[in-house]
Formats: sequence, C-alpha cells, structure tokens
Amino acid sequence: MEKDKYLNISRPNRNCLLCGGSLVEIQKHPSILVDSQEEMVLRKDFCHKCWEKLDNKDYFSYWITRRIAPDPHRKLSKKERDSLLLRLFESLCQKTDEKSVYILFYLSHLLMRYKVFAWKGSRVTPEAPETQTSEKTMLIFENKLTGEEIQIPDQDLDGEKIAESKKEIDGYLNNNLPEEFSEESTNNINRLLKN
Ligand SMILES: [Zn+2]
Repeated sequence: MEKDKYLNISRPNRNCLLCGGSLVEIQKHPSILVDSQEEMVLRKDFCHKCWEKLDNKDYFSYWITRRIAPDPHRKLSKKERDSLLLRLFESLCQKTDEKSVYILFYLSHLLMRYKVFAWKGSRVTPEAPETQTSEKTMLIFENKLTGEEIQIPDQDLDGEKIAESKKEIDGYLNNNLPEEFSEESTNNINRLLKN
C-alpha cells in the first residue's frame, strides 16, 4: 500500500459517522477500514453506541483509536502556526463583511512578517461608475509557498480594529490546536502497508 493512501486513511474523523457526536471528547472509540469502490480503503470512526447498533460490520480491519486532547499550553511550532494562519486566511477570502475584510488585511501583514507572504506593492483599481465602485487601493502580496498573487483591499489603520483582529486570530489559533491521537492496534495498519 502506498504511503499517501495510508496517510489518507490514518487521520481520524472528528465526529461519529452515524450520529455526528464528537469523537474528540469521548477520547476512545472504534475505527474500521472498509473496501470502497474506487480501489481505496475507507476509514470509518464511530462512537461506542453507534458501533453497538451497527448491523453491517463489514470491515477488514478494526482497532480502537485513542484521542489525546490538545494541551492548551503547548506552543505551536512555526510550521503549525503558519499553516493554521493560511487556513484562516483562505476561509476569510470568501467573506465580504467589514470585520472579516479587516482581519484579512491585518492577517496578510502578519503573514508577511512571518515570511509566508512577500510584499509586492499596491495597485489602484479605477473607478467604475457603471457598477458604482469607487477608486480602491489594493495591496499585492505573493504567497511564497505557491507563488500565487494575492490582492487585499487596503484599509485605514485603526488601533481598535487592529486589536480586535489580533484577538480573533489568537482565538482561532487556540481553538484549532492540532489534535494528537494514537491507534491502539496499529499492527493492522502496518500489515496493510506491507501489502
Ligand atoms: Zn455515534
């Protein structure tokens, strides 16, 4: 079995496949591997109740996954921090409300400070009377990992909004600490890897 396939199945789901209950909180739960149609094995995680009720236990591998709650005092590595910030950045790009746009503005500068983005300059988009858009300054960054160009609408510097954005970003990082887990009988997976 190829490593990427293994990695694909090794990550546990956050919620029970049947009832949607949080598996992170119950800490220990059954996991199985089943054959799926696209020649891929599929990982499924269940809470104990749903596992008991499950009629069709057609799996070829079964084990108990143990979740380890993230330590709130653990410091994120630079890599973890940067990838979480990028994830937040991507989700904010879809939003248009004033608060999100401001956080995006602040976050792009933060990512530049962390050397994930590079500063490319600014560009003024012309007034477009037909759509009632007035002249706007866009800040241009480059994502140094992907080479992608990013445009962010420029904002006025406002201490209060900056403080609020910083608080939102810190909250996001604290709520998304990477979870750790262990598989109780990983020899099943090891066996698969050898095949
Ligand atoms: Zn369940």
